[in-house]
Amino acid sequence: MSTYDYDLFVIGAGSGGVRAARIAAGYGARVAVAEEYRVGGTCVIRGCVPKKLFVYASKYRSDFKDAAGFGWTVDGARFDWKTLLGNKDDEIARLNGIYIRNLENSGVGIVNSRAVIEGPNTVRLVQEDRTVTAERILIAVGATPKLDDSVPGIEHAITSNEAFHMDEVPKTAIVVGGGYIAVEFAGILNGLGAKTTLLYRGEEILRGFDDDLRTHLHAEMEKKGITIITGDNIAELDKTEGGISARTVNGKALVADQVLYAIGRVPYIDGLGLENAGVETDRGAIKVDQYSKTNVDSIYAVGDVTNRAQLTPVAIREGHAFADTIYGGKEVIVDHSCIPTAVFSQPEIGTVGLTEAEARAKHKIVDVYKSTFRPMKHTLSGGEEKTMMKILVDGETDKVLGVHIIGPDSGEMVQILGITLKMGATKADFDATIAVHPTASEELVTMRQRTERHVQGE
Ligand code: NDP
Repeated sequence: MSTYDYDLFVIGAGSGGVRAARIAAGYGARVAVAEEYRVGGTCVIRGCVPKKLFVYASKYRSDFKDAAGFGWTVDGARFDWKTLLGNKDDEIARLNGIYIRNLENSGVGIVNSRAVIEGPNTVRLVQEDRTVTAERILIAVGATPKLDDSVPGIEHAITSNEAFHMDEVPKTAIVVGGGYIAVEFAGILNGLGAKTTLLYRGEEILRGFDDDLRTHLHAEMEKKGITIITGDNIAELDKTEGGISARTVNGKALVADQVLYAIGRVPYIDGLGLENAGVETDRGAIKVDQYSKTNVDSIYAVGDVTNRAQLTPVAIREGHAFADTIYGGKEVIVDHSCIPTAVFSQPEIGTVGLTEAEARAKHKIVDVYKSTFRPMKHTLSGGEEKTMMKILVDGETDKVLGVHIIGPDSGEMVQILGITLKMGATKADFDATIAVHPTASEELVTMRQRTERHVQGE
């Protein structure tokens, strides 16, 4: 019999921690999890889930407009932010309850307290003023939004955490950043009626994504009325009578009711006591091996705190693999390659595999198949939005290297495309598949005409 209080003590009841705790307990381990805020973590409480609910809410404005072409007259449509907030909060409370029940039903103890590591096998539960011991500790505390503290007046800005609880929809908003959260929230705020400006320091939004997706989204966001300023950043913020005034590095003066910073999320290790056990970090993230083990034998870490890929399904997979490996007698290594992902911008992005730039750097011959078209719905709605699909193929082996889509439901499509790429599908496999008609995704199996061929060195 172990002399420890627990076999496993998990710090953080988010996506990764909850999955690891439940699976480990299912294998018979004695498990507890500490959570200082709300069980469910960022994704459920103030991330993916409420964000997607807000995206749905924000799309009604254009949906009502589109409806006219189909014969509908929508009179007197009005939006009530408090109703949305209340319903969103109810849904989050429901999910929070499900997470708690699932943990309890798995036999996992829940401790509502901040936890601080005191040693390789010891954790202090701050609110309960006691320590517990465990054979293993799993750190799954996630990441937290960062603000740029070098900007005078930064205290007037909010992050996504606060954006989920704003008192009202601002009439004007500045969104700072050009990543996932910035483009998603710019779309939400714009759709809910805020005059929105997105300010990004680089040349083009969504660095790291395929260039055609980036330019296409930029153009579509502008069509929807979002002002996008690139190559600039906030130099200073100040609260004035007219709102929050911003001066940019290039000398622009902007004013808005809200300034939302979405400039990345940093592993949430402050005050976690990593130094008490000698846990090593690398650029602020916990260093782990392929089994999610830190340099300390009894301490593991999964999810955003390790900074491998800051995505919920990745954290879940890492937590599950850890529990399978340690408690289930199955050695599982998570494959972090070829992760399909969606950006809930408007229009939505679904992407998997290499970008064109990556493909051309890695492969001798790259064939590009690209199609840009008007989604069927807009033939009657009169909407201006365009869909773009792009398939990248290894010209030597015919293997599909990447698929990039921007348009309605592309997040749904890319989940399935993820399977095909993981299986090593070739362009011939795509071509041999019969289309589903009439859909947008049929374009993926009917693009026969190569758009471009790139040969290295030519
Ligand atoms: P991202 O890393 O996606 O983007 C950060 C953006 O902020 C980049 O455009 C970056 O610019 C810019 N930036 C960084 N530092 C500064 C600064 N000091 N001043 C101005 N701009 C700055 O982070 P997000 O906050 O958007 O999202 C965090 C993570 O959450 C993402 O990495 C993503 O993995 C995850 N997420 C996933 C979602 C999904 O799956 N749909 C949705 C939301 C979040 P530059 O490009 O120049 O570095």
